[in-house]
Amino acid sequence: MKIAVLPGDGIGPEVVEAALPVVEALGLPWELRFGEIGWSCWRRGGDPVPEATWRLVEESDGGLLGAVTSKPEREAQAELDPELRGRGLAYVSPVVQLRQRLDLYANLRPAADFLGSPPRFDYAIVRENTEGLYAGFDVADVHGELWELVRRHPNAARSGPEGVRVALRLQTDVGTDRILRFAFELARREGRTSLVVADKPNILRASGQHLRERLALVAPDYPEVAAEVQNADAVAMRLVADPGGFGVVVAENLLGDVLSDVAAGVSGGLGLAPSGNVGERWSYFEPVHGSAPDIAGQGVANPLGTILSIAGLAEHLGSRDEADALRRAVRTVVARGEHVTPDLGGGATTGQAARAVIAALG
Ligand code: ATP
Repeated sequence: MKIAVLPGDGIGPEVVEAALPVVEALGLPWELRFGEIGWSCWRRGGDPVPEATWRLVEESDGGLLGAVTSKPEREAQAELDPELRGRGLAYVSPVVQLRQRLDLYANLRPAADFLGSPPRFDYAIVRENTEGLYAGFDVADVHGELWELVRRHPNAARSGPEGVRVALRLQTDVGTDRILRFAFELARREGRTSLVVADKPNILRASGQHLRERLALVAPDYPEVAAEVQNADAVAMRLVADPGGFGVVVAENLLGDVLSDVAAGVSGGLGLAPSGNVGERWSYFEPVHGSAPDIAGQGVANPLGTILSIAGLAEHLGSRDEADALRRAVRTVVARGEHVTPDLGGGATTGQAARAVIAALG
C-alpha cells in the first residue's frame, strides 16, 4: 500500500519523523512516499498544496499529515514571495482543499482515556464534514425570498435587510445517510453497541425531524447498535461529567466541531489526540494539534497524537490487530510515565517518547 506522508509545518516534521519508525516496527505493508504541504509551499509557490502533492495523493491509498500553519489573509499576503504578489492568489487552508477536492465527508476523532487506570471512557466522535452550518451558505446580501423569510423575526424587522446576516444549515438525504452509515459501520467494526446522534431536534425542528427520519431508515441495517438522538448541549455536558457510557457520537458539522474539541480537551489534551478525515476514495489521518510554533524545533513536542493517527490509518486500511497493538503500547508508555513529553508531565524528548512506544510494542 502506498501512503502519502505530508509532514507540513512547525512541529509537524518533528512528530512525523519520530512517529514513522512504528510503521516498520509493526510490519505494516506500507510504502511511504513523502510530499510537501503547508505554509512554506504557500510562501514559495502561492499554494499550500502544490501540484506534485496532489499527484502523490492521487497515487496513494491513504495519507498521514503532520501539521499545517494557517494565518489570516493579510499575513498570508505579506509573507508571499514578492514575485507572486498582486496576482490575486488567495490562501486556502490545505485541510479545506483536501476535504473539498477529495470529498472527505467524515471527520473521525477517537477519544480514549489514556491517562486513567482503569480507563474511564473510550468512544469516537464522528463529525459530518461537508454540509450542516458550514456548508458555505453564510449570506451577507439578504434580499428577495430570504429577506421575506427572515423579516418575520422581530430583530430582523427592526434591523432591516442591511443589518442582517444569515447562515443556513444544509442537511441533505445524501449527506445525512452517508455520515450515519459511516458512524454505524464504525460502531460495528469496533464492537460498540451505542450510537448517539447529537442534535437540537426541539429547536431545529425541520432538520431535526429529517435527521430522525433518515436515522429510522438506516438504523435497521445495524440491529446490534442502539441508536438515539440526544440534545447536543446535554451530550457536551456528559462528555465532560460522565463520558463512560458513550460508544459513537455523530453530529453535523458545527456541533461535531465543538463536541470534538470538548472530547479532546477532557481526554488528555492536544498532544495525545488523533483524527481522521475519511472519504470514499481516500482518507488521511493527523494529530489534532496544530503546528505549535511556540515549541517547534525544541524536540519537546508530544509524538503520541501522531502515533495514534498511524493506528487510525492502519485500522482504516484493514490492519486492525496492528492498530490495537500500537494503542496498547501507547497506553503502556503513558501509564508508566517515565518516557512522556513535558505536556504530560514528563521530561522525555519527542524521539525518546516515540522510541518508548516501539520498545513497548515488544
Ligand atoms: P496553529 O496555528 O498551527 O493551529 P497553534 O499553536 O495555534 O498552531 P496548536 O498547535 O494546536 O495551535 O497548539 C496549541 C498549544 O498546545 C501550542 O502552543 C503548544 O504549546 C501545545 N501543543 C500543541 N501540540 C502539542 C504537542 N504535540 N506536544 C506538546 N504541546 C503541544
